[in-house]
Amino acid sequence: MLNVPSQSFPAPSSQQRVASGGRSKVPLKQGRSLMDWIRLTKSGKDLTGLKGRLIEVTEEELKKHNTKDDCWICIRGFVYNVTPYMEYHPGGEDELMRAAGSDGTDLFDQVHRWVNYESMLKECLVGRMAVKPALPKDYHEEKQVLNGMVPKSQVADTLAKEGCSSPSYDWFQTDSSVTIVIYTKQKDINLDSVIVDHQDDSFRAEILIKDYSYIIHVELSHEIEEDFSVRVVENVGKIEIVLKKKENASWKRLGHPLENHNSLILRKDTGLYYRKCRLISKEGVTHDTKLFCLMLPPSTHLQVPVGQHVYLKLTITGTEIVKPYTPVSDSLLSEFKEPVLLNNKYIYFLIKIYPAGLFTPELDQLQIAGTGFTPMVKILNYALTNIPSLRKVKLMFFNKTEDDIIWRSQLEKLAFKDKRFDVEFVLSAPTSEWNGKWGHISPALLSEFLKRSSDKSKVLICICGPTPFTEQGIRLLRDRNFSKEEIHSFTA
Ligand code: FAD
Ligand code: NAP
Repeated sequence: MLNVPSQSFPAPSSQQRVASGGRSKVPLKQGRSLMDWIRLTKSGKDLTGLKGRLIEVTEEELKKHNTKDDCWICIRGFVYNVTPYMEYHPGGEDELMRAAGSDGTDLFDQVHRWVNYESMLKECLVGRMAVKPALPKDYHEEKQVLNGMVPKSQVADTLAKEGCSSPSYDWFQTDSSVTIVIYTKQKDINLDSVIVDHQDDSFRAEILIKDYSYIIHVELSHEIEEDFSVRVVENVGKIEIVLKKKENASWKRLGHPLENHNSLILRKDTGLYYRKCRLISKEGVTHDTKLFCLMLPPSTHLQVPVGQHVYLKLTITGTEIVKPYTPVSDSLLSEFKEPVLLNNKYIYFLIKIYPAGLFTPELDQLQIAGTGFTPMVKILNYALTNIPSLRKVKLMFFNKTEDDIIWRSQLEKLAFKDKRFDVEFVLSAPTSEWNGKWGHISPALLSEFLKRSSDKSKVLICICGPTPFTEQGIRLLRDRNFSKEEIHSFTA
């Protein structure tokens, strides 16, 4: 769902920047909204005039289709007949006509690179641009600069002018870990500047340096664990990414280079990179505005710098729709009554739901992929504020690793502030540094937790988590003679 922010603010191609610099929206006629367009594309109407046939388009052919009634545009080598889309284009017909009969890639990228035209215009696809005949071997013309892509040497020159030298990387290993060290040679690098993603065996790190990105992108030679750590030595601009080996084998090499590996490219040319996030919570803030909390995949490190925005993507009736949103900062959130996460696993958004809008009602419909902890938040709040006779509330919170613990510091603070509340974290896959309890739910782990303060005290035990966890917990409680009325489980 989520793509990455840029260093400079607003980003060079951001809606905020172009809005003041000339990107304008025009009022669209009744019945010409994006939803209307999606309906039209699903209607089965022949929008290209080619009855679904895809053709190869030469430059000469493309040039001929340059009027409003017959307008073809090429984007990244694919040609679209945009005539049926004219009245639906938020920027207006004249803006589309600027690229009529030609390659509109640069113009498109300058104005709204994030828009998912492949999905929105798929019914308008005419075909591919024909490949030009190969040039003779002794052809020496200098390489063209394509779509703003600056050749490596030129990047280095530009950076050098700005007083920066090119980054480099190295790696080393121990029996159990592999450390990738990136020497950015910049002084103002911090955790916000580092984005790391690990999916299957592909590993990608992007370091944001002014308007550029330095990229490490490899297919790893061996398997690694899901979680990794990122450290930044700010005064020398050194970044260390520590990966945990799945097996203690010695690695001969880090892996195969993938796209853009070990290169420094303009941020606007890095392409959009989406991550699948889970909606953890959704809370009403006003009658139509909600606070959404999204959890990043465990194998992503991403901190959105304050004031930057990201793109959320949803598939709405078969078409991918992308809209920009600005994460809200922690300092604002600390005013809200729910506790807040301070690590880089969660992103919060304040989003106004427009009932007649396209994206926000869909977003609002998403089911919360809550963790077992979700129902406990409300219960904790309720018990501590509304039950005067309450003597003790204990939370035993089972997680895989320390990184998985939701709202840890807030829970610890709450336990410190309110002596009626105790919290204990139990990890099933802790690191060697973990001093707390560990293991899966078991009689030994529960025995201390389940002690009543007196024989007569009333107890309610709430249990929530994956079904086997919950079932096992209930069995253990019943074995210890807790009655059915004293046990409440949250099951589907
Ligand atoms: P839309 O479908 O765009 O509709 C919005 C309203 O306009 C509805 O009432 C609809 O009926 C009306 N409408 C739609 N089309 C037409 C038309 N043709 N004629 C007349 N009326 C029409 N929003 C947030 O809530 N939080 C954020 O943090 C946030 N950050 C943003 C950051 C940036 C950089 C930008 C540019 C925008 C941001 N937005 C944010 C706005 C967000 O991207 C969406 O535009 C917003 O959520 C509305 O999306 P929608 O698809 O639900 O509504
Ligand atoms: P809102 O409640 O819809 O509007 C705020 C105020 O603006 C209301 O008083 C509204 O009055 C008035 N208003 C609306 N349209 C107007 C117009 N054409 N001329 C003059 N006044 C107008 O919006 P919000 O709560 O402030 O913010 C939500 C919206 O902000 C989002 O949907 C998004 O479009 C935008 N947003 C942009 C960014 C960004 O970075 N660019 C970031 C976050 C949000 P009436 O409705 O009564 O007319």
